[in-house]
Amino acid sequence: MVMDLTKAKRFTLGTIRDGMVEDCGYCISCGSISEYSVEPDARNYHCTACGQDEVHGCSEILLMDLIEPEDE
Ligand SMILES: [Zn+2]
Repeated sequence: MVMDLTKAKRFTLGTIRDGMVEDCGYCISCGSISEYSVEPDARNYHCTACGQDEVHGCSEILLMDLIEPEDE
């Protein structure tokens, strides 16, 4: 099943930066950071938090434009 990106979680650039430093990706279904190392271009890895295969690497999340403005 393809995720409806309009329902995907959004991430701030600060969050993406943290993920890159940690070598982690994020689940676009629940928003959790991955519990294991994820390549920046990974797609649809398993999320241990919610069980969906929606963990994406940070570069992929940037490419999908799932960025939200930071609250100042
Ligand atoms: Zn998840």
